[in-house]
Amino acid sequence: MPRPISVTISVSALAHNLAVVRQHLHQAAASASAADGTQWAPPAIWAVIKAHSYGHGTPQGVQGFAQADGLAMLDLAEALECRESGFSRPILLLEGFFEPGDLELAEQYRLTSVVHCREQLDMLARARPARALDVFVKLNSGMNRLGFAPDAYGAAHARALELQQQGILGSVGRMTHFANADAPGGVARQLEVFERVTGGLPGPVSISNSAATLRYPEIALARPGTESWVRPGICLYGASPFADADAASFGLKPAMSLRSRIIATQQLRAGDAVGYGSLYTADAPTRIGVVACGYADGYPRHAGTGTPIVVGGIRTRVLGRVSMDMLAVDLTPVPDAGIGTPVSLWGADGPSVDEVAQAAGTIGYELLCALATRVPVRTTA
Ligand SMILES: *Cc1c(COP(=O)(O)O)cnc(C)c1O
Repeated sequence: MPRPISVTISVSALAHNLAVVRQHLHQAAASASAADGTQWAPPAIWAVIKAHSYGHGTPQGVQGFAQADGLAMLDLAEALECRESGFSRPILLLEGFFEPGDLELAEQYRLTSVVHCREQLDMLARARPARALDVFVKLNSGMNRLGFAPDAYGAAHARALELQQQGILGSVGRMTHFANADAPGGVARQLEVFERVTGGLPGPVSISNSAATLRYPEIALARPGTESWVRPGICLYGASPFADADAASFGLKPAMSLRSRIIATQQLRAGDAVGYGSLYTADAPTRIGVVACGYADGYPRHAGTGTPIVVGGIRTRVLGRVSMDMLAVDLTPVPDAGIGTPVSLWGADGPSVDEVAQAAGTIGYELLCALATRVPVRTTA
């Protein structure tokens, strides 16, 4: 028998979360339209499925987000997989192409590409595609990761329009990415730069990630005759981009549930210690359980004593240091627990992945993406 650990991916939770985001954008469009009489339209949604759908699996993402207006990722192989599995709407490469050979595949598979640097424009200028490539020219509005600097953007965009004239490019959009949409201060400064530099240029627009989509849905609405796209990722998996608001408060459901079982119990006396480094010492007689889950499964080693965990349906805490294949839990609130008792590490019937992440000094994104390949995956409708 294999170790009693598995991860369940709920395709219906993915679909539910997409519908929640769509509804949120529809409401924003309705309120904005009522407020100023403009017929604001909700933006289209690129469901971001990079990093194998944030650890949930590319096929699961394609299935769960079948109703998305488009899919977005970085990896060309993942993009081809989505197209080959039958997704027919736009697919966006968030970092664009890396070498000329990628352009042939982008053409063949009808991919849309970000263009963020001069070298990519040069590659396009040398390309002889049979079909024009749709692109978004990216502005570095302050994050300083990808994109043309504000003073270089105008020339880059003009060059893209020339390539469009030559039939190399199809639609030419503009795009940027926010560094602080989840934090106080938010999007204002970068949005101001984006408007100043790209305002008035033709073509579709794409600016918002999950945090901006949830907190400032109004900035992505489309005026009549224009096209706008949001790029939510983390919220579609039922995790939160915010430190101060959980995913459930937006009606989002966790799509990944990591579960295991108790494989041993120990009775500690006062003064007995648990695990490597003896980081936890009992101050009174304590019964503990040993769970078949460790950092080699993707559970964070930095989740120390007190990290929430659910055993036999009851919330308790991790004790001591997480080891490679096991971790210890306090069975005080679960006196009936024994070998075989189910454990929820995070997800539908456990703590949220964000709570576990916070206890480990990281974010839910990292835990979802770091789920180890050795954990067997079950996919449910
Ligand atoms: C990852 C990513 C997103 C999605 O970000 P979330 O915070 O997960 O919503 C959007 N746009 C770009 C360019 C990204 O790299």
